[in-house]
Amino acid sequence: MKTNKCFARILLFLSAVTVLLVGCNTANPDNQSELNSAGVNEYLKVHFLDVGQGASQLIIGPSGHTMLIDAGNNDQESVVVDYLKGQGISRIDILVGTHPDADHVGGLDAVIDNFEIGKIYMPKVQSNTRTFEDVLLSIQRKGLKVATAKAGLLLDWESDVKVAMVAPVAENDDTNEMSAVIHITYGATSFLLTGDAESGSEQEMINSNAALKSDVLMVGHHGSNSSTTDAFVEAVQPSYAVIQVGQENNYGHPKAAVLERLNDNGIQVYRNDEQGDIVFTSNGTDITVTHSKQDVVNKDEKKNSPKQFSTLPATPEPSAAPEQQEDTVVYKNCREVRAAGKAPLHKGDPGYSTKLDGDRDGVACE
Ligand SMILES: [Zn+2]
Repeated sequence: MKTNKCFARILLFLSAVTVLLVGCNTANPDNQSELNSAGVNEYLKVHFLDVGQGASQLIIGPSGHTMLIDAGNNDQESVVVDYLKGQGISRIDILVGTHPDADHVGGLDAVIDNFEIGKIYMPKVQSNTRTFEDVLLSIQRKGLKVATAKAGLLLDWESDVKVAMVAPVAENDDTNEMSAVIHITYGATSFLLTGDAESGSEQEMINSNAALKSDVLMVGHHGSNSSTTDAFVEAVQPSYAVIQVGQENNYGHPKAAVLERLNDNGIQVYRNDEQGDIVFTSNGTDITVTHSKQDVVNKDEKKNSPKQFSTLPATPEPSAAPEQQEDTVVYKNCREVRAAGKAPLHKGDPGYSTKLDGDRDGVACE
């Protein structure tokens, strides 16, 4: 009798503890560290798929949710489908067609046909191409409803990742300017995925006062002159830029002026035509980068020391350069540094400044 009573008390105590524990979890759904210690995976991964001249980004959240933005051209659809399957994906929780151009929505029909789809977003703009019709047919066959992509939406994806749509801000006849633009924040790290948004949309985003600042900027419209204005670069302040571009494309993308602008701001550039599939991994504090192709260091007989791309240095590299008596040297941009044969500049070198060291890793103009 006494034992039973004691046992009952223990049971009561245990269930109280259980209630407390469950209570804790529900009370703090956004507590990142708790989720991380108990969760499946604490990383956010942003994949920039190599789909030639086109665009496609796969985002996998810390809890394993998936989001796919665009799927390249028609002829790349098996590349995208195979890539997703290779990641063990069977469901896309959020699918976004940034705008109806073929190099973005071409592969969407195959994705819709091959995977379970949660929600699909597309801007309110049509195209009468066969490619776009194929996408609409696949949507119809699956019984999906398209939600309108527009600025101001907060997408319901994962509790510890904020996904905000920051464009299109206004209606526009130009399909590029109607591109859905997505800002993703995980902890202290952030990404801006821009579709083919051009200068008009960039200015509208700035005017809208939306949060644009990002560690990683997907360069708009494959590095065309019509995007990535100075004002936009200043608003985003990225450390890394990704250009989704195909080898020897017919458009001359990316344009030299855009590359120069990124360079002058000390932004580290990654390109699908040179590095293949590019994957950024964030733990909420730091970002690391990996890519499927080796760096093309000697392509232009670059004299710069080869840069280790795969991991971003957490601490500034020690300066190996000897002390020089040139402390009044001021470089306006990295072009000047290179012209003077002084690149890369290490912290402590004459002329080094944080303005030139966009990624603040202690090495400027690398
Ligand atoms: Zn495009």
